[in-house]
Amino acid sequence: MENLPNCPQCGSEYVYSDGSILNCPECGHEFQAEDAQERVYKDMNGNVLVDGDTVIVAQDLKVKGASSSIKKGTKVKNIKLVEPEDGVHDISCKIPGFGSMMLKTSVVKKG
Ligand SMILES: [Zn+2]
Repeated sequence: MENLPNCPQCGSEYVYSDGSILNCPECGHEFQAEDAQERVYKDMNGNVLVDGDTVIVAQDLKVKGASSSIKKGTKVKNIKLVEPEDGVHDISCKIPGFGSMMLKTSVVKKG
């Protein structure tokens, strides 16, 4: 018996597989098995990141509305990994001099 994930939309346990896609009979949601799995956050080198990690910015980053950019090599402590609202920026953190920022895991290295 296949161990299918619960529906990510309504949490139903009665999900069934229809070949490559999973279907929820309760809300009609169709999804891929990967969608229901817990997100793994990796830095640019493929190291897994977790909440509270320290990362190092690997390239200069322009900041909207700021006169200076975040410099390559900037250390960012105590990151928080989030579900990206825009599909890209998945690190919530505070950077000295900039305040609360959203970064991409693809531009940082584990510190
Ligand atoms: Zn559902």
